[in-house]
Amino acid sequence: MNIYQELGLQRIINASGRMTALGVSVSAKETAESLKEASQQFVDISALMDAAGERIASYTGGEDACPTTGAAAGIAIAVAGCIAKGSIDITLRLPDSEGLPNEVIIQKGHCINFGAPVTQMIALGGGKPVEVGFANFTHENNLVETINENTAAIMYVKSHHCIQKGMLSLEKMIEIAKEANVPIIVDAAAEEDLEKYISNGADLVTYSGSKAIEGPVSGFITGRADLIASCKLQYNGIGRPMKIGKEGIIGLLTALDIYINKDIESIREEELKTLELIKNNIESIDGIHCSIEKDQAGRDIHRLRISIDQKKTGMNIYQLIDALTTGEISIRTRNHLANLGMIEIDPRPLLEGDAEEIINKFKRIFNHNE
Ligand SMILES: *Cc1c(COP(=O)(O)O)cnc(C)c1O
Repeated sequence: MNIYQELGLQRIINASGRMTALGVSVSAKETAESLKEASQQFVDISALMDAAGERIASYTGGEDACPTTGAAAGIAIAVAGCIAKGSIDITLRLPDSEGLPNEVIIQKGHCINFGAPVTQMIALGGGKPVEVGFANFTHENNLVETINENTAAIMYVKSHHCIQKGMLSLEKMIEIAKEANVPIIVDAAAEEDLEKYISNGADLVTYSGSKAIEGPVSGFITGRADLIASCKLQYNGIGRPMKIGKEGIIGLLTALDIYINKDIESIREEELKTLELIKNNIESIDGIHCSIEKDQAGRDIHRLRISIDQKKTGMNIYQLIDALTTGEISIRTRNHLANLGMIEIDPRPLLEGDAEEIINKFKRIFNHNE
């Protein structure tokens, strides 16, 4: 019985991805142990923030870094940092930014909801989101002509949630931002590459520590030293209700260390084997079709796609989802293609023994005995 089942909750098998609704990711044993150890000692927090920032920056190529509770806090704090520009007076009155340069320009196709709206996180930091372009298209001049003396920053969101066509590229936006001498903030919450956006010339980049990095609830902002100093200052203001504790910071550092040294290729190979195991065991069920598909956004991730023949099984895809999620063990698949009659199994979040549980559950649902 796991610690959540002791509370009367279902055991969750996450076959859907890094979902905040399911606890995002699980930590490696070393990360969990470092969290525990950090929670049992005192430390000078400001010195810890500085030391952690230095360590994080060594992984990103940024001049410095500021730990956060996540990428959402990273957006709010980065915006506040760009508005305050190191001023304690401004820091103490944000998110009230009246009379100050506070406009944060963002392309319409980037105004996503990742679980909360990006524009709301901008407002939380005292920014006034100014949307440019159209849902499916931005012209260079839409951005150029919107920059004025009230512009505090330009925001670029790198996410599969964003419109992927017709948007200005990050390179173009950085070029325009540099020309206008306005800082550019990149939300790279779930991205795997920790150096790319800094090396492209972004001023601040924010990451989630619990997504690709698989750390505890945490995150960071990395980039220009003067702006990072202003971000750290925000913990005396709007950052306070988003404070990251000593445990979170240490857990993040341990997770980063593991992440940097990870052999992604062999992990991907293992994941493919897991998918093949599930496929080989459930495709013999009459009316079930399985295929292994590559990620649609072009990443090197494979997923098992499953569809069912309603005539043969007497069940439609929604009834299958329902059957998978109910009971003591709840299997959560990727369901955004359900309207097309398909569900997917993402191998990345599967824990030891999960693949066997999935196979058993399919056999039970379809009364399949061999
Ligand atoms: C997940 C996500 C966030 C929020 O990250 P947290 O670490 O959960 O705060 C922000 N932006 C994008 C694009 C995301 O995918």
